[in-house]
Amino acid sequence: MTDAVSRLAEVRANIERARKAAGRPAGAVTLVAVSKTFDADAVRPVIEAGQRVFGENRVQEAAAKWPALKAGFPDIELRLIGPLQSNKAREAVALFDVIETVDREKIAAELAKEISKQGRAPRLYVQVNTGLEPQKAGIDPREAASFVARCREVHGLSIEGLMAIPPATENPGPHFALLAGLAREAGVDKLSMGMSGDYETAIAFGASGVRVGSAIFGSR
Ligand SMILES: *Cc1c(COP(=O)(O)O)cnc(C)c1O
Repeated sequence: MTDAVSRLAEVRANIERARKAAGRPAGAVTLVAVSKTFDADAVRPVIEAGQRVFGENRVQEAAAKWPALKAGFPDIELRLIGPLQSNKAREAVALFDVIETVDREKIAAELAKEISKQGRAPRLYVQVNTGLEPQKAGIDPREAASFVARCREVHGLSIEGLMAIPPATENPGPHFALLAGLAREAGVDKLSMGMSGDYETAIAFGASGVRVGSAIFGSR
């Protein structure tokens, strides 16, 4: 067993424990294994150990790494969790099964165009900048619900959930609670929140997907 495979088992056990402690049903939490910066040889054992949902934060890196990996495992689900430039929308729609970082009108419009052109519709999340950090992507929380509505009504996009990355230096709980409240307001039910340091807390606050990188693959 590689280190990553034994850490994967640990993370899975922790998720199960946190899920039960929160009184949430079996299957309520999806583990997104964040494989950014790790090459195909590092990722393959984790796939062979049964992990099927992976996150990458760069379109270019994912395009180089995943088509070959996916070929042997057609049930793999690939999620984009990093910022999306509008000139990468075509490639992102072709490659990813889920795009978690829709955060502005221009991207919504580009995605809508590519989805209709390609006849391929990744599931979509709106990223919210819960800490209003200037260096971080994501829509202002005060505009999240109206942006989700505009994605639906203006661009014809169906939005599955919200995603956030709380400020690194703050207690994440209030950010997770804020995101859960915004999802209710926006009428979406999936919540992508929680990383290596706080995924158990995120599960207590209702995360449906936790994005865990270093706790599985090691430090980057
Ligand atoms: C890198 C990354 C993660 C994983 O972070 P870890 O702390 O390594 O678990 C989660 N979400 C996003 C958006 C990331 O870019």
